[in-house]
Amino acid sequence: MIAIDVGHSLQSSGAVSARGKTEFEFNRELATVVWQSIFAQGGAAFEIGADGNSVDPETRPADASTRNAKFFLSIHHDSVQAKYLEDWTWQGGVQRHADQFSGFSLFVSRKNKQVAASLHCASAIGSALKAAGFTPSSHHAEKIEGEDRPWADQANGVYYYDNLIVLKNAKIPAVLLEAGVIANRDEELRMQDPSVRKRIGAAVATGLGNCGVLK
Ligand SMILES: [Zn+2]
Repeated sequence: MIAIDVGHSLQSSGAVSARGKTEFEFNRELATVVWQSIFAQGGAAFEIGADGNSVDPETRPADASTRNAKFFLSIHHDSVQAKYLEDWTWQGGVQRHADQFSGFSLFVSRKNKQVAASLHCASAIGSALKAAGFTPSSHHAEKIEGEDRPWADQANGVYYYDNLIVLKNAKIPAVLLEAGVIANRDEELRMQDPSVRKRIGAAVATGLGNCGVLK
């Protein structure tokens, strides 16, 4: 059983896309597709926080364990540091974008009790995403304030982010996926394309199968 954590909530909705949509909306849509893909590949999963009312990230790993999950996957969409965001006008309003950044990122915490199993699955998910035609982003490794994350597996887009609450508090292996950069105007549209979501979902499920947590 896999816990699919829908990143953020209605009240605290995460990043803002280049066209002003909240990250939570993207996370909720993709989480459903990931859930379907896991079932299609013979696994079982449930969602945490899909109703948008789960405001406390501390409770999410506990929920996963209570419901006997053996793996915790947190679904997010990415943005960039504020200094890279530029104004543009869309539908009569000023929005902010950064088109030079794109790609997926994966995070694991060395404070998670099962860091080796977490990293094994993060690498498998990254590898499957690459095989499906997606590209990892290196922007979290840039040596600037707010980034400077050490690589855990650079080839597969996996970083260490030790203090991410949902990762470090989980008693089970835990991985956070940033599926794409929604501050990028083209990538924002791709992330909303149902066929792209299906490819991401299938790749994530394949990665989870390859690291042995779908059975
Ligand atoms: Zn997020």
